Amino acid sequence: MAKKYVYFYGPGKADGKADMKNLLGGKGANLAEMCNLGLPVPAGFTITTDCCTDYFANGMKFPAEMEEQVLKSLAETEKAMGMKFGDSKNPLLISCRSGARMSMPGMMETVLNIGLCSETIPGLVEKTKNERFVYDSYRRLIMMYSDVVMEKAEGIEAKGGVSIRLQLEEIMEELKKEKGYKLDTDLTVDDLKSLCDTFKKHIKSALGSEFPDKPMDQLWGGIGAVFKSWNGKRAISYRNIEGIPHEWGTATNVQAMVFGNMGDSSATGVAFTRNPATGENKFFGEYLVNAQGEDVVAGTRTPAPINESTKGEQNAHLTSLEVGMPELYKELDGIQKKLEKHYRDMQDLEFTIQEGKLWMLQTRVGKRTGTAALNMAMDMLDEKLIQEEDVVMRLKPAQLDELLHPIIDPKSEKGAEAILKGLPAGPGGAAGKIVFTAEDAVEWVNKGEQVILVREETNPEDIEGMRAAIGILTARGGMTSHAALVARGWGKCCIVGASDCEINLKEKTLKINDKTLKEGDVVTLNGTKGYVYSGALDMIDATENPRFQTFMNIVDKFRKMGVRANADTPEDATIAQSFGAEGIGLMRTEHMFYGEGSDEPLFYLRKMILSNTLEERKSALDQLLPYVKKDMKATIEAMKGMPVTIRLLDPPLHEFVPQSEAKQKEVADALGISLEDVKKRGDSLHEVNPMMGHRGVRLGVTYPEVTEMQIRAILEAAAELNKENKKCLPEIMVPVTCDEKELKDQKALVEKIAEEVKEKFKIDKLEYLYGTMIEIPRAALLADRMAEDAQFFSFGTNDLTQMSFGFSRDDIGGFLSEYLDRKILKDDPFQSIDQDGVGQLVEYGVERGRKTKPELKIGVCGEHGGDPDSVEFFHGLGLNYVSCSPYRVPIARLAAAQAEIKAKKA
Ligand code: ADP
Ligand code: MG
Ligand code: MG
Repeated sequence: MAKKYVYFYGPGKADGKADMKNLLGGKGANLAEMCNLGLPVPAGFTITTDCCTDYFANGMKFPAEMEEQVLKSLAETEKAMGMKFGDSKNPLLISCRSGARMSMPGMMETVLNIGLCSETIPGLVEKTKNERFVYDSYRRLIMMYSDVVMEKAEGIEAKGGVSIRLQLEEIMEELKKEKGYKLDTDLTVDDLKSLCDTFKKHIKSALGSEFPDKPMDQLWGGIGAVFKSWNGKRAISYRNIEGIPHEWGTATNVQAMVFGNMGDSSATGVAFTRNPATGENKFFGEYLVNAQGEDVVAGTRTPAPINESTKGEQNAHLTSLEVGMPELYKELDGIQKKLEKHYRDMQDLEFTIQEGKLWMLQTRVGKRTGTAALNMAMDMLDEKLIQEEDVVMRLKPAQLDELLHPIIDPKSEKGAEAILKGLPAGPGGAAGKIVFTAEDAVEWVNKGEQVILVREETNPEDIEGMRAAIGILTARGGMTSHAALVARGWGKCCIVGASDCEINLKEKTLKINDKTLKEGDVVTLNGTKGYVYSGALDMIDATENPRFQTFMNIVDKFRKMGVRANADTPEDATIAQSFGAEGIGLMRTEHMFYGEGSDEPLFYLRKMILSNTLEERKSALDQLLPYVKKDMKATIEAMKGMPVTIRLLDPPLHEFVPQSEAKQKEVADALGISLEDVKKRGDSLHEVNPMMGHRGVRLGVTYPEVTEMQIRAILEAAAELNKENKKCLPEIMVPVTCDEKELKDQKALVEKIAEEVKEKFKIDKLEYLYGTMIEIPRAALLADRMAEDAQFFSFGTNDLTQMSFGFSRDDIGGFLSEYLDRKILKDDPFQSIDQDGVGQLVEYGVERGRKTKPELKIGVCGEHGGDPDSVEFFHGLGLNYVSCSPYRVPIARLAAAQAEIKAKKA
């Protein structure tokens, strides 16, 4: 049997349904589902994503069996709508709409009004008695078709960077100016007629081919162009950012046209079943009277709100759908309720009203900010629409990151006056320097600046610049414009439709009343209110949201893997606990030699490093001991009995050698040697390749007294805490090991000191663990032997990555972007664990280690501990915990809970 490439949908029945997204794309699957639910959907058919991939594999030829299926479904569509495609009396018009598995708003193409031509135009005029509407639709077809099908899909480079679409828009603007019109709707029938003629002539001369006048040619052209738009520039760049596979392909949805531009009883709009920026449970949306769908989304006219209760300052003067067309509003409200209940999630809807009849054109799970995701999930739980398990799955771990992001400090905002107001499209606060093009945004950010991207209107072509900017401000467009959607999906602070300003692209200035801001001037956005301030206001954390805590408690009900934090100080330890850390997975001994308060310990450390004899070194170590002990004790105590993994001194010693003559002199005096000698001793520590040099356990092996001092500091701190009746659990971790004999060597020292401490404190029990980092590939390969003397492993995945790839983590910047662009690497392996290679080492290490010691405790303490994909991977390997920076602890907790739920479902 021939492969089924085409799926019909129509009133009350459809070949497809909602769970067929992979094959039909999200749009197609949901159009089918809405038909099955009995909602008013214009009939049509979906050509599968499969067909798209076959089309590409075929050198851009449609598969043989597809044509017949298309014709058959077209006939069904005609029957359902009671019109005929290409008919001279009663012509059916159609749209060709893209739609991939995952929604990529505005990134691919759609062509409307297909089927208008010299054969069908007179019939449609006769039938509708609305010549203006017909020619308005025709000029839209010509503009869209020449752009999408004749230029982009053919891979024609726009002349001088000005696309055919812009060229035609220019012609239209000229005509409007000449006639003194303000709006597109001012154009008369005769204007539109002559415009269409001018357009077609211009297209012929600019693109070298004739605008097709046969409906069937238009249809096939449209279908092919939608397929090809899968590989358009912005679609590719969006997929790269979102991590969507390039192999998926898009479906093409062919659908009977309905018209929102047939006069004042017609309209078109976009709506959300709840507020996508705040999560507030209010039906929320925008619409335009006498317009076609693309008008709302393109952001060229500022649309009106659909109801009274969601009006804001900016659109209060406009007539809502609720007031303007109350019956239709009621019907729409009923449908949105039905859809949300059916999908059990917030929906993003498209609708069109044609002469008083409502049609549904799209539904999908709506993109939302992190705040909205949290509020909706908790509300829906209260409403018993979803279960706790669903709540956990409703927030992406990255969205938590956004919740932990700053908002403008209300105190700072109170005294400030907004210089400009717009629509609050993406909440939170952002301050940065203004730039006026996407390219500038990327360039400035690469130079280390924080920028606010200021644009006339939101345009999907700006995608990379929007990504780079910390905030986005546009003069035009509504809450549902493409860029607002995209910004919200990323949790980016964004204000749109701030119309009381003038942007001068040439001079790169933003004029607000009599104030003129230049490129590089600083502004602050309040994306929650839509206010713009001049200068930088203070920011604070948004974690106060009490629902955040409740949500995290639900998350922890589902989580099995532990989450710890990397923390070096009592302050960090306290923050880590407030974010829910269950211990410290990495405390770096050397932190106390950097920054504030490090002068004295650093001095003794230097003295120790520059000692020449064992005696000198021991005396310096004795002086250092109290500092180390105090430091350890404070952090261990702050963790209130939770485990604290302390890594012994890790960096190469020469890092601490004094560089300034004054500091060298101090050490020289203390050691009673000459400045010259100090310099010489320092120089002798120089290494060609210090990352692989005399560091970590190697120091402990060559200078056992250095290890002894550290162990004594840790264990005496523990003994003192025990005496004070405070629980504690230090875990001594040896870094940079590559052989089990190193572990044996150091263990002997640990046990010796433990006895001495017990004696000193007159106690017979001292609780601690002894273990090792696994960060050198050899250690992972010999994990069975490493486990003999270790009670725990902690995978140091930063160094393990560095040593497995042979990529220096400090120098990878020089070639990483090229490796990513050319797809030699999928991700930066220092951000997300390389599951193929480095991941194997971890897997092997876990398996081997537990073979020797089944109860071996295993964790991860690299950056990867806070990366959701990596957390899921580690969960799959059965690790006991991950450890990450305090601020990423909630993200790791959520990722771990989601991994558990996914694993249970699989
Ligand atoms: P996108 O994925 O960019 O939203 P769509 O395929 O949804 O693209 O179409 C763009 C606009 O055209 C939308 O506003 C949509 O509602 C409108 N549209 C698409 N098909 C039809 C149709 N058959 N009748 C009326 N409007 C349509
Ligand atoms: Mg759409
Ligand atoms: Mg290391």
